[in-house]
Amino acid sequence: MTDPIEPDANYDTPSDATPEAPSRHFIQQMIDEHVEQGRWGEPGDRSVVRTRFPPEPNGYLHIGHGKSLCLNFGLAEEYGGSCVLRFDDTNPEKEEAEYVRAIIEDIRWLGFRWPGYSEDDPLAGVKFASDYFEQMHDWAVELIQKGLAYVDESTADEIRSMRGTLKEPGKPSPFRDRPAAESLARFNDMVEGRVEDGGAVLRAKIDMASPNMNLRDPVMYRVVNAPHHRTGDRWHVYPMYDWAHGLEDSIEGVTNSLCTLEFEAHRPLYDWFIDAVNQGRDDAGKIHHAQQTEFARMSLSTVVMSKRYMKQVVDEGIVTGWDDPRMATLSGHRRRGVTPEAIRALANEVGVTKFNSMHDYGLLENAVREDLNKRAPRRMCVLDPIKVTITNWGDQGDEQRIEDMTALNNPEDEGAGTRIVPFGKTLYIERTDFMEDAPKKFFRLKPGGEVRLRYGYWITCNEVVKNDDGDVVELKCTYDPQTRGGDAPPPDAEGKVRKVKGTIHWVEANTSNEVTVRAFDRLYAADRPGKKRDHLEDLNPESLRLIEGARLEPNWATTIEERASGTGAFADGIERFQFERTGYFCVDAAETANAGRPVFNRTVTLKDSWAKQAKK
Ligand code: ATP
Ligand code: MG
Repeated sequence: MTDPIEPDANYDTPSDATPEAPSRHFIQQMIDEHVEQGRWGEPGDRSVVRTRFPPEPNGYLHIGHGKSLCLNFGLAEEYGGSCVLRFDDTNPEKEEAEYVRAIIEDIRWLGFRWPGYSEDDPLAGVKFASDYFEQMHDWAVELIQKGLAYVDESTADEIRSMRGTLKEPGKPSPFRDRPAAESLARFNDMVEGRVEDGGAVLRAKIDMASPNMNLRDPVMYRVVNAPHHRTGDRWHVYPMYDWAHGLEDSIEGVTNSLCTLEFEAHRPLYDWFIDAVNQGRDDAGKIHHAQQTEFARMSLSTVVMSKRYMKQVVDEGIVTGWDDPRMATLSGHRRRGVTPEAIRALANEVGVTKFNSMHDYGLLENAVREDLNKRAPRRMCVLDPIKVTITNWGDQGDEQRIEDMTALNNPEDEGAGTRIVPFGKTLYIERTDFMEDAPKKFFRLKPGGEVRLRYGYWITCNEVVKNDDGDVVELKCTYDPQTRGGDAPPPDAEGKVRKVKGTIHWVEANTSNEVTVRAFDRLYAADRPGKKRDHLEDLNPESLRLIEGARLEPNWATTIEERASGTGAFADGIERFQFERTGYFCVDAAETANAGRPVFNRTVTLKDSWAKQAKK
């Protein structure tokens, strides 16, 4: 797909997203009620609200996690409470320290802070499920003593076959009613590494006939004789999610444990485990019991959020890494130039509901446009240059002279000021802004036609120069000295004012910089990649167009004046721009260092070319 470049209309396209009056979603309403009733503390005390974000360090965070982050940290911000960042590192075999580092970086980038946060030490205040293994183990022992848990030495296959079906109840394991002392001894063997992997499990003793399969004596611990990246060789058993999660919430004093809808059927188990620990304790000894609430996960069209698929495109080299600007990851979005503000705006717009639904990825792109329209410095960059020679440039003085033109840095922000854009005899314009056999409605440059160079002069094309292959290599034009700054010339003798319909961008040939532009598009072309066929077949073959030899105006670096007014002042230090008429772009720091010249990533085009496609 080529980028539509049309004159005038593309300048500062206002976003058509209309902000709606926010109504409070069901989780806010529930928390309001609990606060009022004093469920967690003094009635009316909002600061007791505590949420948590529990990522598993087995991949990078994606845009869907962004939604969960905005919900959890957003509620903490709103109520003046807190949100705990806790890694769910209960699986010793899969987790990697690189993921921990990347996840923390992403959350910091979004601007979210947790208790104990430190600017200098990313790990400060960060919790790990493994911090609580000792405590969880002690509670498991208590459950065994209370007759609420037992060690089952059946094989995995046997346990599966005894589980029953949705229609039929399960069968009790022969180990179900063994004496507590025996379970305790066996559990100890498991813990100390005297049982091989899969040799035994600790199960909760709940109800083998429950219509909720999750309650049919779920596994609490399994044997994994593998070292853990934080606890080393201490453990040979690792807790299952359902057992661990509520206890972690309890230890941290989480009031609201928010998870996606698929955990709805696990809630009775979440509650059962806490109640089981509390059974037999007096009120003072009872552990804290958080409220689990489920919400719909966010899905976006054309986006793959499955860690398995994401890992596959990384491992197979289809993208350059988890932070490739085309990836659904937060780090990929960051690298492409998406702002944290846009991600928060997307989360807001998608809202918090109980129904899974698919949202158009264009929502995020529009949020980006809306944010960057307000804050991105404007610059002129010609992506696919064609040379323009102003043949009468010498008539008004020195042929070699460069005139300083004045350009607005951001029409949306007066304080952003202006900058100098040099104009001279040799220029570049966008190849697509010239057409030889142009239809009547083509208002850009054509033979014999006149066009306005934004902030420059009006020029008329008199001659088209071609190479031996017949390609246009140069346009010989004249300029009207009376149109300086792009203004209309004075009326002629009969009082008529000449008009031009088209305005295009340009750069001066000798002062402009050669830059590389990576014009990214969506990684997948299908609405639901992988739905009908292998997701790799749904890849968009044009997700990256590498543009070498684009020409950018010389004074492109963000100015102090701009920053002071808010334009170009991005907290993450990424330099973002609107290249007039072509889109929003950011400097790719790593690629720039590699290439030794500026490399820009296209964040998003000015218009939604996908919406147009869909209508066709
Ligand atoms: P998996 O469990 O398959 O490894 P996950 O996407 O659930 O992947 P976690 O690291 O466990 O990854 O997720 C952390 C949190 O983010 C969880 O609370 C989860 O419910 C939430 N989350 C994950 N995907 C989405 C999504 N698409 N929309 C909203 N929340 C999500
Ligand atoms: Mg998960």
